Amino acid sequence: MEPLYEGKAKRMWATDDPMTLRMEFKNDATAFNGEKKASFENKGRLNNAISTLIYGMLEKEGVPTHFVRQIDETNVEVRRVEILMVEVIVRNFSAGSFCKRTGFAEGVAFSEPVIEFSYKSDELGDPLINDDYIREMKLATPEDLAFLRASALKVNRLLGGFFERCGLRLVDFKLEFGRLVFDPSVIVLADEISPDGCRLWDLKTGEKMDKDRFRRDLGNVMEAYEEVLKRVKEEVGR
Ligand code: ADP
Ligand code: UDP
Repeated sequence: MEPLYEGKAKRMWATDDPMTLRMEFKNDATAFNGEKKASFENKGRLNNAISTLIYGMLEKEGVPTHFVRQIDETNVEVRRVEILMVEVIVRNFSAGSFCKRTGFAEGVAFSEPVIEFSYKSDELGDPLINDDYIREMKLATPEDLAFLRASALKVNRLLGGFFERCGLRLVDFKLEFGRLVFDPSVIVLADEISPDGCRLWDLKTGEKMDKDRFRRDLGNVMEAYEEVLKRVKEEVGR
């Protein structure tokens, strides 16, 4: 069997139900638009476990998502969506490309969350775009965009509080949204939420607990993911 789609970190598989997909987490890691590549034993299992617990929390808090159920260690069942080609990034502290673009030092607290959009295109390197680009490129209507912005802020509030209770600072993260294939008027949160797409710093030590350990060759990448899972599990169980 062939996957419907093989990406950098996951494979998407058809199921018997045309409305759902099986999302398989791989051990592969990439950074800098695919230029840097590696594979980490257990990465798929860890990201699946973390993402599943976070989706459970978000669903409980009333955020509509693609999540259906965990199938096994590296697979989940999700509602099939037409992914919006806009990535929504939320930042609470300066880091990564924000610092590169502005000259800010890393770790400056923002007075309000900073939301930005990028065009989901590997070929173009996910360039930064704004509301006007999104309208003219017909990636989403202004109404959809208002919904994405409000949803991203809600997820930021929930996720920020959740990670704080885990002793982690939510520095920034990326979200993807999609339209349900059987009802395109409904937009839900899709893809994964894991240390691959979030910057998480230990609240006490400031230690990086996310994919920056891989990007910057800091070592102990999976040890950090394992620690994030342990804390997320504890928090969900409280
Ligand atoms: P990439 O495409 O960036 O290499 P991944 O390896 O994470 O990313 O591949 C997963 C792909 O599946 C992404 O393109 C993502 O947008 C897409 N996707 C995530 N959730 C769903 C869903 N519920 N339905 C359809 N596609 C999805
Ligand atoms: N991010 C992501 N996928 C992308 C781009 C960004 O998951 O294609 C996440 C990244 O992990 C970080 C946040 O979004 O948590 C902001 O990333 P930034 O724009 O600073 O990207 P960088 O240039 O550091 O990759």
